[in-house]
Amino acid sequence: MTELPTDPLDPIALREGLVAHGFIIPTGVKGGDGRTAKFEDILDRFDALVMRNARDDGAEPLHFPPIVARTLIERMGYLGNFPQLIGSIHSFFGDDAAARELAALADAGERWEHMLDPAETMLLPAACYPVYPVFSGLLPEGGRLVTVRNWCFRHEPSDEPTRLQSFRMREFIRAGAPEAVHEWRDTWLQRGLALLQGLGLPAHSDVASDPFFGRSGRMMAASQRDQRLKFEIVVPVISADRPTAVCSFNWHQEHFTGTFGIRRSDGATAHTACLGFGLERVTLALIRTHGFDLARWPDDVRAQLWP
Ligand code: ATP
Ligand code: ZN
Repeated sequence: MTELPTDPLDPIALREGLVAHGFIIPTGVKGGDGRTAKFEDILDRFDALVMRNARDDGAEPLHFPPIVARTLIERMGYLGNFPQLIGSIHSFFGDDAAARELAALADAGERWEHMLDPAETMLLPAACYPVYPVFSGLLPEGGRLVTVRNWCFRHEPSDEPTRLQSFRMREFIRAGAPEAVHEWRDTWLQRGLALLQGLGLPAHSDVASDPFFGRSGRMMAASQRDQRLKFEIVVPVISADRPTAVCSFNWHQEHFTGTFGIRRSDGATAHTACLGFGLERVTLALIRTHGFDLARWPDDVRAQLWP
């Protein structure tokens, strides 16, 4: 068996190892490789471990497709904050003659995309987005807790095996009284850290910020850090100096409750927070830490994932 790349700064060698050892299937799309059954098994087993860990919380599972209304992306403020990551769905709305022209252009190797128009949908950038409109109106006493798992799209093509364009998140979303939401976030930060460290990952948590776009975005990121609104749990996967975020915790305060008219049962101000495990990233962190040969992973790690 080829050993793991000894240089932790070598993302290309890690990617080659993942292909050679039958974890990912190259497709030619940056950040859009296929996954084998062996990769998927680790990912699903980790997700199942998270769900076992969270069982007593009684989060309500909801399921959404990986597309959202264009209007939801607008209302979430995504266009101003992250235009560089957008994935928009376009389709063909023309007549017979236009359809023949479209096909002829493609056959001739010419550009044809200008003949498409935006559909009413966009690709989902974060698993929690469809949940906030569901919370609109009065929350029940004690608030709500929902969990979702979904494919997310972000236009950040990269050769790094940890930066994908299409990946899955397991998210938990809490809405309720400000103190309760804040406390929930803090509890999960400790729980998430314990869970990942319990799998032998050299994980630690840190204050973080989102990749807000442009000059004003840098100010927003600084303010987000100052207010300690975002935390990440990070693990070295392709770099020791810049460890990879495998789980993120976002405290939105009144941001989405204002936008979506979410109020507490007594009409008072509600807050929301969410946390998301990047399922591919955790899987890659496990492989990077414990090796390409699953049979040689530590017994206690195997026992937790394959109980
Ligand atoms: P980063 O700073 O690495 O770009 P982020 O802070 O934008 O990540 P979030 O928006 O908080 O990430 O997303 C939640 C989780 O989704 C992250 O903790 C990470 O595990 C995962 N994730 C985010 N972007 C990607 C990506 N491009 N490929 C794979 N997983 C990702
Ligand atoms: Zn979220």
